[in-house]
Amino acid sequence: MDPVIGIDLGTTYSAVATLDSGRPVIIPSRAGARLTPSVIGFTAMGERVVGERAQILGDEAPDRVAPATKRFIGKRFSPALEKAAKAVVPYPVLAGPQGEVRIKVAGRVMPLTQVSAMLLGELKLDAEAHFGRPVSKAVITVPANFDEGQRQATREAARIAGLEVLRLLNEPTAAAMAYGLVNSFQGRALVFDLGGGTFDVSVLEMENGVYEVKATGGDTQLGGDDFDARIVQWLVAQVPDLHRDAVTKDRVSMQRLRYAAERAKRTLSEQSEAFLSLAELGDHSGDAPDRLCTLDTALTRDFFETLSEPLTTRCLDVCRQVLAEAKLTAQDVEAVMLVGGMTRMPLIRALVTKFFGRPPVTGVNPDEAVALGAAVHAAELASRHGQTLLIDVATHTLSVGVLGGTARRLIPRNSPVPASAKDVFLPGRTGQTQARIPVYQGESEFTDECTKLGEVVLSDISVVNRAEVPIEVTFELSNEGTLSVRAVDTTTGIAEALRIEARTTLSPSEVDSLSKEQAAYSEQQGEKDKVQALQTFPRVLDKAERLVRLLEKSAEENPSPEADSVVGQVKALLAQGRVAVKLGDTSQMAEVTRLLERLVALS
Ligand code: AMP
Repeated sequence: MDPVIGIDLGTTYSAVATLDSGRPVIIPSRAGARLTPSVIGFTAMGERVVGERAQILGDEAPDRVAPATKRFIGKRFSPALEKAAKAVVPYPVLAGPQGEVRIKVAGRVMPLTQVSAMLLGELKLDAEAHFGRPVSKAVITVPANFDEGQRQATREAARIAGLEVLRLLNEPTAAAMAYGLVNSFQGRALVFDLGGGTFDVSVLEMENGVYEVKATGGDTQLGGDDFDARIVQWLVAQVPDLHRDAVTKDRVSMQRLRYAAERAKRTLSEQSEAFLSLAELGDHSGDAPDRLCTLDTALTRDFFETLSEPLTTRCLDVCRQVLAEAKLTAQDVEAVMLVGGMTRMPLIRALVTKFFGRPPVTGVNPDEAVALGAAVHAAELASRHGQTLLIDVATHTLSVGVLGGTARRLIPRNSPVPASAKDVFLPGRTGQTQARIPVYQGESEFTDECTKLGEVVLSDISVVNRAEVPIEVTFELSNEGTLSVRAVDTTTGIAEALRIEARTTLSPSEVDSLSKEQAAYSEQQGEKDKVQALQTFPRVLDKAERLVRLLEKSAEENPSPEADSVVGQVKALLAQGRVAVKLGDTSQMAEVTRLLERLVALS
């Protein structure tokens, strides 16, 4: 079977995993890391850098890198979004031709789906290096509260990266699958997912391979970056008065403060105090000799927790709301599963323990749970064994706008998906022969407080009938949250499907050219990786040979059937490895390396 992977495309970090002998495992990056920073950039020479290298470049040249772009994917550009972006990211955001958000990095204007495709492409290359052969099928996770536009954009990014999406899976559901499998847990679980940019909570019932989401909710504007922003505010207040204004206006200085704040926050998860030492803050564009200043300070864990209080309070408010929607109390929850880097913060763990009256479950790394769960689901979808069943819910209420600006609900939030609903509307006419049925997403009963997804426009409706024409509208929500809408003129039977106006996807020709660019890059990198594999594999064999000699010796001194069996297996793999070298078969080399690693510690 072709290898399949699960990808957690995170705001701050991403990870890729696969199922290995029934167990989900992280695929390390080619640089040997388990997580890849979700950062891309371009060096001064124009070379593309992704992940760790981009993060390092960002320390030196913040204007050459783009972190946290997931915050804006699939969204429409607006001045409010531009203002919000200024507070959290170092790059300018711009409007694209379809009203989508683009960013400017290292002098290039890029669609966000291209940025995500570069990240996905890197994870795909890591997986290909791991398997020694092409990988094209993946389950990709998205925050539960991602809307239609954000899901479409994620699919578009996958298309540009040359990945076939087996399914988009909600992140908390993925995490629950990983915890469920690793801990053999059955019962009522709550997933508390606090990442870099968003906060999601889901309540699930897990029984004999059936994962039933009862309710889900979140806050799309609450994440680790907001905790960092609190520290940045505190730092800015300490900048000497003379320089404060220049520092807050200077992108390079603000990015330095953000990086330092994020590092201090991590330190405070381990230690009770973090020291911050910042140089060259001020106006980097000018040349006055005293335009830059330094800042040396210390932040204690206690004070950071006080700074964070308004944010942690919001986390618990979301938990209360989701529990209420699931008609459960905190005490009914039998396992609390933590996901996202921010849940390493001791205060978050303490709050969760106090609120639910039990400590969170362990056994799965909170940074890796989502990717591991995605790998479990990917393997299930690819093999079609039917051992697990996933029942997810609609994450937003879907409505039709009726006269008077009210939204008539067809599919309420937290309905199990797939879901379908129909209703008859009398939308009146635009002109003589046209009827428009606007479709909204959101929780308000007023359409101006919801997001408009698009309109169904029915032309050629019956003109003979002077009365209003009854139009039957049907909503179908797929099991991964994609909506299709159909409207039928009940008098004539003329039907129309939804045209999503708010869609921010790129033109087919742009997608095509970006896909070609990405494919050319991947091919070039893939060749380099192949050369690397051909060079390193003989060293792996040498090491395994030395190890097998030691094993043989110890098996002679302490004979046992187990020791004999390991020696036999390693020898067989060595023989396979030598054949692979002769044939230049990278897939076989990767397989032998993986199997050897399982038997003996190679690194
Ligand atoms: P995610 O989106 O799940 O990758 O979460 C990333 C967020 O977790 C970022 O805001 C990180 O700064 C934060 N984070 C990662 N590790 C830690 C840590 N040890 N302590 C506190 N926050 C962390």
